Amino acid sequence: MPGFIKKIDHIAVVVDDISQALTFWQDTLGMQLSHMEDVPSEGSLVAFLPTGESEVELVQPTGQDNGVARFLKKHGPGMHHICFEVYDIQKTMAHLKEKQVRLINSEPIIGTGGKKIAFIHPESSYGVLVELYELSGKEGEIRLDRARELAERVLSEGQTMANAAMDFLRNLREELSKDRRN
Ligand code: ZN
Repeated sequence: MPGFIKKIDHIAVVVDDISQALTFWQDTLGMQLSHMEDVPSEGSLVAFLPTGESEVELVQPTGQDNGVARFLKKHGPGMHHICFEVYDIQKTMAHLKEKQVRLINSEPIIGTGGKKIAFIHPESSYGVLVELYELSGKEGEIRLDRARELAERVLSEGQTMANAAMDFLRNLREELSKDRRN
């Protein structure tokens, strides 16, 4: 049996409220939240909690009509899928097809950063939805860009708050000097 699997990339858990779920995963278990992303194209909000070489990914549906929203409605919160990073997704899929494994995607779909993704139907994998990833190597850069965007947004919001505070102080100082003059 040749080795196709490199490692567990992530385990995805569907939740109905990410900030509430973080009180367990982050606060109680003490895992670090690396970043959060809004993914409108997939109708979901995701939070990543790395551990070792893998991550727990919390997924909260933001739309009504997508797989994750339907999963939540049908099963409630819980484990959604396990994702393996593979060395070569084409070779892995060819092997699985040869073994009559039922694939959800007959060809890999291209995700962010050019990574190739395909899912194995749970019917073939003993009830577990399995995602396969072949990374392009650009994921780190993209994640960094997104983190930078988020940081800039927080900073600019922070600046607004800082400006408001400065205005308040300026007004207060003016009021005080007026009082002194009177
Ligand atoms: Zn996934």
